[in-house]
Amino acid sequence: MALMWNRTVDWDAGDWRRDAACRNTEPDLFFPVGTTGPAVEQIEAAKRVCRSCEAQDPCLDFALATNQESGVWGGTSEEERRKLRRAWLAARRSAASSAGTVGSVAPVTLRR
Ligand code: SF4
Repeated sequence: MALMWNRTVDWDAGDWRRDAACRNTEPDLFFPVGTTGPAVEQIEAAKRVCRSCEAQDPCLDFALATNQESGVWGGTSEEERRKLRRAWLAARRSAASSAGTVGSVAPVTLRR
């Protein structure tokens, strides 16, 4: 059985990176080491930047679609995104099941 991956999410739509509030910040801020101690404040600082970002929704969509496991993306921490991704995958499976297709469904957008 061949494994195939087909890209069904157009994460470059709208060129959202151009609007990213983090473009002019220190990249390390968004990739704290760990999730406790000093990392807690770092994660919150990164989320504050995300809350002011016009690209928050497409950024989160990208992170979910490409399974970005590390760092703060779209205003979410790694743990928050793991939960969202489970729900996102379930929504995609449900959409594929409803459409009677597998692997060829329209993008599913999940909002927090
Ligand atoms: S939502 Fe956060 S991580 Fe995503 S582009 Fe905006 S500032 Fe950067």
